Amino acid sequence: MIQDISPKTLDNLYRPEAVPEPDSAVICLHDGKILMRETEGNEIMFPSFGDFPYRDREFIYLFRIDEEMYFFCDCSEKLTLEGFSYQEPNIFRSAAPADKAYALVTARHICSWYTKEKFCGECGASMVHDTKERMMRCPVCGNTVYPVVSPAVITGVVNGDRLLVTKYAGRPGARRAALIAGFNEVGETIEQTVKREVMEEAGLNVTDIRYYKSQPWGISGSLLFGFWCRVDGSDEVSLNDGELAEAVWMTRQEILDSYPEGNISLTSEMTLLFAGGFDPYGETEREES
Ligand SMILES: [Zn+2]
Repeated sequence: MIQDISPKTLDNLYRPEAVPEPDSAVICLHDGKILMRETEGNEIMFPSFGDFPYRDREFIYLFRIDEEMYFFCDCSEKLTLEGFSYQEPNIFRSAAPADKAYALVTARHICSWYTKEKFCGECGASMVHDTKERMMRCPVCGNTVYPVVSPAVITGVVNGDRLLVTKYAGRPGARRAALIAGFNEVGETIEQTVKREVMEEAGLNVTDIRYYKSQPWGISGSLLFGFWCRVDGSDEVSLNDGELAEAVWMTRQEILDSYPEGNISLTSEMTLLFAGGFDPYGETEREES
């Protein structure tokens, strides 16, 4: 998955005292896009501080991947840099190398948050950086704000040897295979999110909810929780019009035939894992029989 960049590691410890070095990467954000080198193919390259002409801007330490530090150049203007242009962070799906793709979506998540937290939501004063944590603080009223991470679920609904596979409405290019997904609502557990989303999107009751894995998904500022669950009662799908264009039960072979892609996302990992023969309830069934 996108966060699997081994043998490299992303170190997100907050280091407000860090200063850019010549080989540090500089992240510039404008209109949701990030300044990257224009390359043939899908190679990602950010400006390095050593070649960066706008030294008088504010640089905020983001994280490091192994020894390479990343800094956010915090300014609202659209900068120009020869050979570079602002590009959609969505290119991460097919981009290389893996550590840069992960840096891209993680930086996008943090930098978007910084751009929205310039002023206090309580009193309107200018916010300042905290010295100990990644947090913005209002020097006037004391309001504190942390980076927003929105929990969401990716749900593999199992029905014997079939999996509920969906396609979202309003996305013409959407690939056939997705899984029921949605954001956690205030006041519910993440397991309740699974039950509600499957009912809302496919009209099905589910049971035996089992946690699988999680995945940071910086593009939507979320943390995805992957769950397996089993259909409970009727397996007749009734679509909530507007959200999904299609939701069908597919056998392992049908998934393999229509969804041969890789495993950048938790969705594709779960889908292909199931298609490859994995049964999240295999052991329980053996115990019961
Ligand atoms: Zn305030």
